[in-house]
Amino acid sequence: MNQSIPYSRAQIDAALDACAREPVHIPGAIQSAGCLISLDSEMRQVRQVSANIEIFLGVSVAEALQAHPSDLIGKRLLTRLRQALLDQECLPNALTAQRRVKERMRRFHVVAYRSGSRVVVELEPLNQPGERRLLATVNEWLVQVSQLDDLDALLQALTRGVQQLTRYERVMVYRFDEQWNGQVVAEHRVAEAGAFLGHHFPASDIPVQVRRLYDINRVRSIPDAAAAPVALMPARDPQDATPLDLSRGSLRAVSPIHREYLANMGVSASLSIAMHDEGRLWGLLACHGFGPRELSPAVRDAARALVQITLPRMMLLRARAEARLLHDVHDSRDLLAGERGQLEDPEAMLQRHGQQWLDLLRASGVALVLHGRVSGVGRLPDATHLLGMAEWLNRHQQHDAPWYSQRLVDTPLAEWQQGDLCGLLAAPLPSDTRQSHWLMLFRTEQRETRRWAGNPEDIPMERHGQLIMTPRRSFGQWQEEIKGRSHGWSEIERRAAGDLAEDLAVLVSGREIAKLNGRLNQVNAQLKSLAYSDALTGAWNRYRMEQAIDAALNAAERHAQPFTLLLFDIDHFKHFNDTHGHEAGDRVLVELTRAVQAGLRDSDALGRWGGEEFIALASHTDLEGGTRLAERLRQCVEALAFDELGQVTISLGVASWQPGDTRKQLVVRADQAMYRAKHGGRNQVAASRPR
Ligand code: GH3
Ligand code: MG
Ligand code: MG
Repeated sequence: MNQSIPYSRAQIDAALDACAREPVHIPGAIQSAGCLISLDSEMRQVRQVSANIEIFLGVSVAEALQAHPSDLIGKRLLTRLRQALLDQECLPNALTAQRRVKERMRRFHVVAYRSGSRVVVELEPLNQPGERRLLATVNEWLVQVSQLDDLDALLQALTRGVQQLTRYERVMVYRFDEQWNGQVVAEHRVAEAGAFLGHHFPASDIPVQVRRLYDINRVRSIPDAAAAPVALMPARDPQDATPLDLSRGSLRAVSPIHREYLANMGVSASLSIAMHDEGRLWGLLACHGFGPRELSPAVRDAARALVQITLPRMMLLRARAEARLLHDVHDSRDLLAGERGQLEDPEAMLQRHGQQWLDLLRASGVALVLHGRVSGVGRLPDATHLLGMAEWLNRHQQHDAPWYSQRLVDTPLAEWQQGDLCGLLAAPLPSDTRQSHWLMLFRTEQRETRRWAGNPEDIPMERHGQLIMTPRRSFGQWQEEIKGRSHGWSEIERRAAGDLAEDLAVLVSGREIAKLNGRLNQVNAQLKSLAYSDALTGAWNRYRMEQAIDAALNAAERHAQPFTLLLFDIDHFKHFNDTHGHEAGDRVLVELTRAVQAGLRDSDALGRWGGEEFIALASHTDLEGGTRLAERLRQCVEALAFDELGQVTISLGVASWQPGDTRKQLVVRADQAMYRAKHGGRNQVAASRPR
């Protein structure tokens, strides 16, 4: 439905840019609802006044420019302003002042602010009846607001309250989206006024410099858009050439573009009040009057009060809704945390909790991509598509924040979109490795008919040979079919998904660490046994046996626990090797080790001391017990059958611990005993005599 426009994008952008640079804050004129006096920074001299000053203060422009400020606004007010603006840019609250004008007392609503090197004073008459009722209305409303628990109802009530106060024909709450397009989310109107509820307005309707003005000055009142602006006299400050910035005031004249815009919309009077959310312009309360509307500053302030009462309630209700979602997600996270001990397979985890996550985050499918493997629940693209997306995300999403889109076709992930799964929220599972894992949530397309108040394309026009943006002339309904787009992912949903991903990362890394640990333990055990055992026989090696002897010596010294060493050597093993070969000799070493080990208690240990020499360490054993054990081992070896290899025998020396022994002394005694056994004819036991 977009009509084609015979201009290049660059031309249109330039025109839009010019529109955004329109100097709306320095119009050099005011609206006719009040008068303005510009003073020097010391407030001793009148520099400029509005051309209508005589209507309000009864002095001509010429007289006013010659007068002392106190003659115009009175000594008392001047003193108050001097004090208030001593250390502030702006009066914190409007003041009320009385002036006798042509024999009549008149009351004024006074706003004053510093503007560059000047002080600007704006006066508006205060004489509408019924102002005293305002406080009661605001109070009534305060009670109502505190009872509303639903955001829509709250905003609806706000529009109703402001309509009662201002009597404007249409009162709307207008909310900005991330691109600064507006949507009417609440409305109260008289029967004749067309409905704007649900309608969208393009961002260009409220250009950036106008939005910025709402940060400085929350209220903008235009009681009569068609009224001619009232010029400042003289047009320029005689001593300061910079145009007077009227951003902070109430009376700033309306920009020609905005007047045209309002006229095209059939609106003669308007009141807008900014609604900020944590410092960001969230939306506007906007009122439309179909005829010029005198709006007392008191009513304006009351309307502003209603908005200000509403805002914290609105934040509270929204925070509550967000807290509910986070709470539910955290419940799910608690479940996950409970499973941390079990270190379950992520796929099984997804199967069990996935459906709940889908419900909470209003998604149609959820997938986990871990180590290039995909698992998922619900409606999802194919695994190859998911992997494609994860790979792109790995390369391009460097930080921890979730990546999201409600319209994949507009993103580099377009090629992997499948069917109507056009919304993706992908949260990385933080990890140390460069390859990230991803939690991916998908949403399906939500077709929508968006009703715009007029064609959202601004209509450029040529004026004086130049392309300019003119305000839209048509506010009739213009429909746009929104396709290929899912519901948007709210900030709180993004946060919830990020939290989930973090928990999953802990689980996954926990599981991986456990896996790694398992492998490490295995390797460590292997390394340990390599370090401590003899490669051929599997008995302890000499190093390990030395440690064991030292430990036994310590324990013996401390607890007087006896222990005994049996050192034995295979008889005539050289000859055996020579006769049967080295391999046969090895086999004998292995068999003999096994046989001796079987003859020992669990608390005893056997080590290969070198070559065909072994030491058995018998704990809690004295010399007598050790000698008996030696004899048993001797017989056991003698009885071993080696088939054609014949018999193998050993000679054993036995030595028991004696207080003060070193390892060396003890081993030497056992060795000496063993040699006595050799000299005694081999295949026998000899015990070392106590010292
Ligand atoms: P004795 O009764 O006096 O101990 O005589 P022996 O022949 O056993 O004495 P000797 O110490 O002279 O010889 C030890 C032999 O043990 C030398 C070597 O052939 C053999 N031997 C040492 N380590 C190994 C081994 O790991 N494998 C094999 N097959 N033989 C070994
Ligand atoms: Mg030997
Ligand atoms: Mg030997």
